[in-house]
Amino acid sequence: MPAHTTILQILKQMPDGWGKPISPCPIHPSSCFLPPCRRRLLYERRLGWHKVRWRRALDIGSVFHDYMALCFTKPEDDIQRLQGAVKLSAFERIDRLAEEYPIEFQEREIEQARRDVILALTMGQIFLNMYPVNPAWQPLLVEQTIKADISRLTNVEPTILLGTPDIVIKDTEKNEVWIVDYKTTSQRPAEITSTLVFDSQCILYKFLWDATPLARKHGKAVGFIHCIIQKPTIRPRRGETFEDYLNRCIHDFYDIQMLRTPHSSPIMRSFVRLSRPSLSKDDELITQLHDIALWHTKPISLAGFPRLGNRFAGCIRNGRRCPYTDFCLNSPRVWYDLLISGGFEKHNPYQEGENKKILEVHPNFDEL
Ligand code: SF4
Repeated sequence: MPAHTTILQILKQMPDGWGKPISPCPIHPSSCFLPPCRRRLLYERRLGWHKVRWRRALDIGSVFHDYMALCFTKPEDDIQRLQGAVKLSAFERIDRLAEEYPIEFQEREIEQARRDVILALTMGQIFLNMYPVNPAWQPLLVEQTIKADISRLTNVEPTILLGTPDIVIKDTEKNEVWIVDYKTTSQRPAEITSTLVFDSQCILYKFLWDATPLARKHGKAVGFIHCIIQKPTIRPRRGETFEDYLNRCIHDFYDIQMLRTPHSSPIMRSFVRLSRPSLSKDDELITQLHDIALWHTKPISLAGFPRLGNRFAGCIRNGRRCPYTDFCLNSPRVWYDLLISGGFEKHNPYQEGENKKILEVHPNFDEL
């Protein structure tokens, strides 16, 4: 390879589309911010490189979401059957990953991932014990990805918004549509709730929902129902049954934590009703979207996406090394080898999930 080879030429020569930028690079309401390190933005968003161990199958939050979605859509089903279905599908995902990535998933990681599934199901069950599914709530949309071209809003061509609200429900008693958002957190829920009214993630979900044909039929969303649960600090023990672990967590949540901090529950459901449309032309969120869109469309070069460096604590955060450290330390000429040996996957945000098509909508910007 000649010495003057540019980063774009190196990326172009990578096999199997690894170096192909994600185009157009979408904005996800769930990550509606710019990461402090611009080089990380290049690896993560523009090129779609992700460490495989951080994937969905092993994510406590996503198993929790799957369980809640199933409980909403099949409220008449036996709860143990629903738990069994989520557990089976999560364990199958883990087994598939273990087969595909034998170096990253050895016995210890597989065991850890399985315990995370149990922990997520336990959180779901504790939440449902406190807030059972309301039979008057009719699910209208469950984990459906919605896509909109919002270039007219950001004045940056092209800007694509791509989001998946957890559940959109209709309260059939009050004839109102609400967006339900589940959050699992390590913090106390009370620390999060005070700022939920300007949570950009939900505002953008409402924006997407309001542009769907279903919203024309059932109505625009009047607000958000935030369901927040703190992750238990105690972990499932080896060989412990689901019921035993559930009882230990319930004891920890209600008898110990609530006793210590009675005004700060580890489980919270909060209704945030919006008094105005989700977005307006002078909104600060539009400025934020504009800034992100500029970075999502900027021509790719190393100088244009500078490394943050340790000085700003981006390379090691919470005692964890940034997953892209080796790319930053080595020449782009060896990036492909690092991707293959480092257990990365190429994430295509436009890939449609099992039986689910992306719903493309066309918002009416004149209404804003
Ligand atoms: S290692 Fe540091 S400089 Fe490199 S991408 Fe990560 S945070 Fe940025």
